[in-house]
Amino acid sequence: MSPEPGRKPGSTMMDTSEFRKHGHELVDWMAEYLDQVASYPVRPTIKPGDIIARIPQRPPRDGEPFTLIFEDFKQIILPGMTHWQSPNFFAYFPANSSPESVLAEMLTATLGAQCMSWITSPAATELEERMMEWLREMTGLPEDWQGVIQDTASTATLCSLLTARESRTSYAVNTTGFAPSMRFTAYASSEAHSSVEKAIKIAGIGKENLRKIRVDGAFAMIPEDLEDAVLTDLQHGHIPLAVVAAVGTTGSTAVDPIRRIGEICRKHGIWLHIDAAFAGSALLLPDKRWMIDGIEYADSFVFNPHKWMFTNFDCSAYFVRDVDALVRTFEILPEYLKTSESDRVNNYRDWGIQLGRRFRALKLWFVIRGYGVKGLQSVIRHHIEIAERQAERIRHHPDFELLAPVPLNTICFRYHPSGIHDEGFLNRVNGALLESLNATGAMFLTHTKLNGRFTLRMVIGQTRVTENDVLAAWERIQESAARVRAESS
Ligand SMILES: *Cc1c(COP(=O)(O)O)cnc(C)c1O
Repeated sequence: MSPEPGRKPGSTMMDTSEFRKHGHELVDWMAEYLDQVASYPVRPTIKPGDIIARIPQRPPRDGEPFTLIFEDFKQIILPGMTHWQSPNFFAYFPANSSPESVLAEMLTATLGAQCMSWITSPAATELEERMMEWLREMTGLPEDWQGVIQDTASTATLCSLLTARESRTSYAVNTTGFAPSMRFTAYASSEAHSSVEKAIKIAGIGKENLRKIRVDGAFAMIPEDLEDAVLTDLQHGHIPLAVVAAVGTTGSTAVDPIRRIGEICRKHGIWLHIDAAFAGSALLLPDKRWMIDGIEYADSFVFNPHKWMFTNFDCSAYFVRDVDALVRTFEILPEYLKTSESDRVNNYRDWGIQLGRRFRALKLWFVIRGYGVKGLQSVIRHHIEIAERQAERIRHHPDFELLAPVPLNTICFRYHPSGIHDEGFLNRVNGALLESLNATGAMFLTHTKLNGRFTLRMVIGQTRVTENDVLAAWERIQESAARVRAESS
């Protein structure tokens, strides 16, 4: 039997001349994909099980030619993908990227370095340190804070709560486990992200001890209610441990009042973590820094460049006031990890949960240099301006209404034909409208519930989105709404 093309006789590895050839083909395909990404149905029209049925149940015994593998990628995988880089993607929050970021990811994959400590790749560690300083300055965070890249905001929030727990107990839970006297409570608004509750569960605090504080008409935490809850817990012998405040909730990008919340935390010795997973990128614009007024009261802060700063998933920037508390919470030092330079360098394995770490600073470096701070600011500002104009169109339309303020680029709205007051009917019509819009493949929106109302969300944050894409989507939304209403009544 002749060997596969691209394999030397007896070799199981693709040789570099084949690698070069296929690499060029792939980059050509990638460029073409990005040029045409708007023409794909944003969300695939397939049924559960369609894709797995086309993948052999058993792995191949012999190696297969790369051309065949790539062909199957195009034939089997691509039709089952949701196109997150499409300008018609208005769902969830984006996970946007940029050419610089993609190219950096190719280099990261090629180097294949495991960046758990300084010695395992000094440049990765030192670039990460510098990138976190750049991001700290770009977002206006306090100068004496330090940052580390985590995989996701969920992980960062968990790290924060674990650090709160340990610093509050003089690192006793890490050593001896919970004592019965440690009846901790934590606080977040009723609009907080589900990752907060998940972290509370994992950190051993117990989700029944997470107080969900009421929100005001703009869906921001009511600080008076927070203080009431803290005082009630104190009266009952609980120990208020931590507050997670949101700068940009997932539902509607509501901004909790950090200064008022911070004052309450300071008064009662409560840890304050700020979850700005999505909205943090807007802090690149100095006129949006009002969102973190009072940041000096906080202990930690997270935002995701992988959502709205053109950096491929995953890349979450976690900043802390007290890096010693963080490291003391997570540090481990088995003999095989001991190195001589430990006191002079950062060993990021001790700044979070996992030991192994990807080289994620490289893509940040490429993105920030490629765009420049000014370039990043101008795209983010552009997204916000498009959203403001679209919000105005909705506000002035007799049959649509906004359901939340639009401080950034996330628009919460619904179809509400004049004269109709039946909330049940409105919920059903808007649910049907969402289904029908997404079924076209021409756009992808998701929904949330605000005050019990079925709410359509349109997030304008894709790297390639233009106002024309939004206008085309808006046309379609109006047409579909009229049709769905006719069908429902
Ligand atoms: C998206 C989001 C998260 C979760 O982000 P991951 O990085 O996916 O864990 C947490 N909080 C808020 C406010 C978010 O919008």
